[in-house]
Amino acid sequence: MLMIRTASFLRVALFLLVLLMLPAGSLYAQKKKQFTVVLDAGHGGNDPGAVHGKVKEKDINLTVTKMLAEKIKKKYPEVKVVFTRSTDVFVTLEGRSNKANKEKADLFISIHVNSAKKRSADGVETFMWGIPSTEDEKRLAMYENQVVELEKDKGAKYKKFDSDEDFILKQLMFDQDVTLSAEIAQLVQKALVKSTKRTDRGVKSGDLYVLRNSAMPRILIEMPFLSNAGDRQFLTSAAGQKKIVEGIFEGFSKYYELYGKNNDDNAGGASVDDSVEVDEENVKSGVPLFKVQLFAADTKLKSNDKRFKGLKTDSFKEGKWYKYTYGSTEDYDKAVKMKKEVSAKFKDAFVIAFIDGKRVETSKAVEIYKKNKKKK
Ligand SMILES: [Zn+2]
Repeated sequence: MLMIRTASFLRVALFLLVLLMLPAGSLYAQKKKQFTVVLDAGHGGNDPGAVHGKVKEKDINLTVTKMLAEKIKKKYPEVKVVFTRSTDVFVTLEGRSNKANKEKADLFISIHVNSAKKRSADGVETFMWGIPSTEDEKRLAMYENQVVELEKDKGAKYKKFDSDEDFILKQLMFDQDVTLSAEIAQLVQKALVKSTKRTDRGVKSGDLYVLRNSAMPRILIEMPFLSNAGDRQFLTSAAGQKKIVEGIFEGFSKYYELYGKNNDDNAGGASVDDSVEVDEENVKSGVPLFKVQLFAADTKLKSNDKRFKGLKTDSFKEGKWYKYTYGSTEDYDKAVKMKKEVSAKFKDAFVIAFIDGKRVETSKAVEIYKKNKKKK
């Protein structure tokens, strides 16, 4: 007994010694890079953003961004939080996305205050990068992009694509992060509406330059309207800002728990990254199956639940989430049509993909689908 104990003690001591000799961080560095979130406080310096009297959007953006950073650091000390600006300075839109790319960030969250000529417009909305489909989406992109006039070349580098909707379409086809951007957008929007109780303007798409060139899941949050009296009162109060931060944090948390945290040893909850890695070999032989995800919920719903709005749905579990889907096809073009069909009822629906029963990134599945189609 004693011998064995001594032997195992020695082994532990040796192990600890080896540990001490290793440079800090190298143990995990190879396994998985630290989850990095870039928090982007909109505007700054000579660009105030929306203004009402003495109230400036740039200041609210910075305050809320810093509060959010504190909350993230406190709950998840393992997460690296990076600011595009932490003081009142001007940063170009390109500079913001460059910084996120350089950090190889896992998530990019841009934070803004909304404003409109129409004083009655109110509420919160969350944007993904993509083709705007409504006048309101176009308005918002134009509004947030106009800051490039203050940049040295007056935004020439962004504008060369302006007339080219094809450019966005092409980019979207290769954008690996569309699905995850949609996830974080929905999680944040839902939590934000719940915590602030402001009008739900939904998840939207727009060609926002600050999101255009960032190579990671990315969203732009529009906090309540500075141009609306009720929203303004909420937005400028400490209690209101606290609720906004709570909402964004809640959305971030859910996303992080699902896709960011312990992806390597989280055997129960398959993350998208895991599935792709584990399935690398099967991907080549497997045939992608496309479905339309309608929404996610943290409870199991009955098949006749009102929330399905009469649609026949399937579900699968990812982490602690039940994801509800519609339809199932090997034909990606059909899946896109299905998504269009249901989008009147579920405006945030999006196409997801499975290979051999495992969830994979849609863009990868589309690539395989196209290759297979060529072969035929
Ligand atoms: Zn803004």
